[in-house]
Order: sequence, then structure tokens, then C-alpha cells
Amino acid sequence: MELMYKSTRSNETATASQAILKGLASDGGLFVPVTLPKLSVNIDELKGMSYKEVAYIVMKEFLTDFTEEELKNCIDKAYDEKFDTEEIAPIVKADGAYYLELFHGATIAFKDMALSILPHLLTTSAKKNNVKNEIVILTATSGDTGKAALAGFADVENTRIVVFYPKGGVSPIQEKQMVTQKGANTHVVGIKGNFDQAQSGVKAIFGNKELEKELDAAGFQFSSANSINIGRLVPQVVYYVYSYAKLLAEGEIENGEKINVVVPTGNFGNILAAYYAKNMGLPIDKLICASNDNKVLYDFFETGSYDKNRDFILTTSPSMDILISSNLERLIYKIAGCDDVKNKELMTALTTEGKYEITADMKAELKDFYGNYATESETADVIKSIYEDTGYVIDTHTAVAAKVYKKYKEATGDTTKSVIASTASPFKFTRSVMNAIDAKYDAMGDFQLVDELSKIGNVKVPKAIEEIRTAPVLHNTVVEVDEMTDAVKKFLGL
Ligand SMILES: *Cc1c(COP(=O)(O)O)cnc(C)c1O
Repeated sequence: MELMYKSTRSNETATASQAILKGLASDGGLFVPVTLPKLSVNIDELKGMSYKEVAYIVMKEFLTDFTEEELKNCIDKAYDEKFDTEEIAPIVKADGAYYLELFHGATIAFKDMALSILPHLLTTSAKKNNVKNEIVILTATSGDTGKAALAGFADVENTRIVVFYPKGGVSPIQEKQMVTQKGANTHVVGIKGNFDQAQSGVKAIFGNKELEKELDAAGFQFSSANSINIGRLVPQVVYYVYSYAKLLAEGEIENGEKINVVVPTGNFGNILAAYYAKNMGLPIDKLICASNDNKVLYDFFETGSYDKNRDFILTTSPSMDILISSNLERLIYKIAGCDDVKNKELMTALTTEGKYEITADMKAELKDFYGNYATESETADVIKSIYEDTGYVIDTHTAVAAKVYKKYKEATGDTTKSVIASTASPFKFTRSVMNAIDAKYDAMGDFQLVDELSKIGNVKVPKAIEEIRTAPVLHNTVVEVDEMTDAVKKFLGL
């Protein structure tokens, strides 16, 4: 039976491939599956499955208008040698938790997990729907999405990609990764503003009907690679199921035993995928949502009030420096009883007043979630202590999750085995990581730090880092926030 998608803000519906093509619904809402599917296998059958096998088992339930051949083809093209380990997402047991390493892809951060398959889902969707226009991917990034999307789409036929990032709001290595991107169809633009402004700017471009007509006449159409695209979300469900399969195979858990997952959260995409995995029947107990000093989600889980009216804080975990967690809308819609009118009301309040409040009934639906946050010094301290206790070096985002997990255990006494989503390689945030371990490192240059980290952590420097040591800068455009539309038009020759 075909699984349909509908907007969180109206009755607009789409098939999976149409939803992937559109990214955002016409009414500004996000596409959600009309019902959340269940796993078609018993939990014990997962034991020992490969990443690709799990990917197929999970994704076929969501993308029901893809043929088996089409979907397996996308999976094969995505999860190949671009990853530096056949396991794709290995698990490291350290410090009383299981670190699910989601950073073994082309750009050494978890965005690769979905962005290595999205271009293939998208071009397959275009073919299925007889789309003749060239697809223009427009993305706002707080650092990791941008590079992962660029790497995923570079030189993919019939696509172009424009990435906006906040100039000065991403790490030096992240910026270097982006501005050295090869591929004639890639464009990278710094904006004089923060991530939320970049994201709002992209949303405005997507909502610009006149521009849409102009593009269509010139043979282009926009699509999104941001985590609002269900083509991003669905591949992220896979690794939670896979982690369970691996823990079973390794005898770490019993069949059916519940686990917690801890997710360092920004846009709420990764943790929403874990929630979808739980809804599919994966034995997950608590979903632990970890924030940095931009703790809008922690406050939301505490009070039921989402309020973005606050200072935006630049932290050492920049990919979580977010005040509007776009994917939360999918959860809000669900806990509102899948009521698009109610959800739209709240989202309108968020746009006009910067805040909204959920009802007590809705709040009761959040009982599976636990939210907390880690300050900058707590984050640095936990990197240092885990390194000193175990020799394992984690990045700043993962460290936020590690700290919040400790707070959770202290607050609840819960000893349920827990998987921590390890979302970036420490090599991506080398300076912050090394400074956390010892202040003496601050005097060193970026690449010297990379070598030092390799030494103390006893891990090889990832290929993604080796490559940018000497790569030339190919993109140097910087614009004001209100010049974003013009920048896009210029790249398309309009
Ligand atoms: C994007 C990102 C996050 C946040 O994930 P969301 O899905 O946006 O919540 C956390 N850590 C890293 C390293 C990221 O790149």
C-alpha cells in the first residue's frame, strides 16, 4: 500500500518522491507520513544485518513509490567507499555508553549519512515524476550541512547547488572545506548574518512565487537539501535501527531490550529520526535531547513554551547554534493529534511573536523525551575527562550529548543502556577539542593541531582533512542578508 505524505499546515498531500522533490510543502509546512510505518521484520531478524540491508528494510517502508531496484540502487551508490569503514556507522563503547560514530563519510560529520543518498533519491524522484527542469539545491548551513550537501551534489547531472553560510559563524576548518569545494555546479556564499538569518533567507527564496516562475521559464526549479526534506529524514532513521542490530549481534543487549538514545540537537532532525525509529517499533525508551547554551529546546521541554526571543550565542558546537529548530514542527504536528490547523496556528505565532505555547495535553505526549543542556565549560570538561579516563577523543557536539547523558543519569538514576549519537569527528573541531584537553595547544596552527590530535587520540588523520591542507580557495562571495536572492539569480544567469 502506498504511504502518502501530507503537509503539517494543510491538507496538501504528496507521494514520497513528490515530497522529496518539493522539500517544503507549498503552504510552508513540512511533509510528514500520514501514518508512521512499522518495521516489517522481527527485532531478532535485525541481528547482524549490514548497513545497506538495514537501510533497505527501513527506507522501503517510507518510500513506497520507489521500486526495490530504484531504492537499492540509491543505497548502493550512497554507502560505498565514500565511507572509510565498511561498517558505515561503527559503535565505540566508552565511558559507560555506546558512541554511534556517524562521521565516517566524505565530510566527517553525520550529515553525510543522509546527504550521500539524497542526491540519488532526488534524481530518481525527478525521473519518476517526469521533471525536465534542472534541480537547484538551495541550502542554509551552520557548517556541516553545507559541505556534506556540496560533496553529495558536486557534479551530479541535472543539479546545481547554492550553499549559504554565516560568515564567521562556522569553524575555520568547516569554512575551508566549503570554499575549496570542486564541481562546476557548486556555489558557496558567506552572508553577513547568523545561521537563522541564512535559513530565513532561504525560506523566503523558496516562498517567492515570482522567482519560481522566472526559474521555471529558464528551465530550473528549486529543491531543498536541508533537514526539512523527508529525503534527509528517512535515511537518518536507518542508523538507529542499525545500532540496535549491531548491539544485538555483539551480545551487548538482549532481543527486545530497551535502549535510550542521546542526540546532540540543533534543527531537531536527528532526534526526530530516532523518534520515528521508536514509532517503527524499535525498542527505544527515552529520547534524550542535548542542547548547548542555545537551550531553547531544553526550556521547551521544561515549560511547554517555545521562545526564540533570546540572545543567539556562538558556541564551540556551532552546528547546534540554532534558535528555530525547524524539524520540531513535525513533532508539534504529531502531538497536536495530527491537527494541521492547530500546528499552523502555533507556527504562525512563532513567525509573528517568536514564540508559542503548547497545551497540557500536548505536553503529556512528550513524556518519551528528556531535555537538558551543557554549558561551554561543561562541554570542554567532559572532552578532557573522557579523554583522560579512556583515551577516546570526542568532538564538541558529541561532548554536549555526553554531558547531558551524565546529567540525565544523575537526575533519574536510569541505568538503561544508551547510544550516544556521535555527530562529528574531533578532527572537524580540532581547536576547540584540543583546547579542552590542554590550553597549551592554543598556540599551535590548525594543521599542526590536526597532527597532534592524531597522535594523542591514536587515530589516523581522516582523508577529508588531508585533502584541504593544500586545496585552493574556489569560492569567495560574501553578501548581505538582503542580497541572497540576487546571488542565486546571478549564479543561474537570470
Ligand atoms: C547538524 C548537526 C547537529 C544537529 O543535528 P540536528 O539534526 O540539526 O538536530 C549536531 N552535531 C553536528 C556535528 C551536526 O552537524
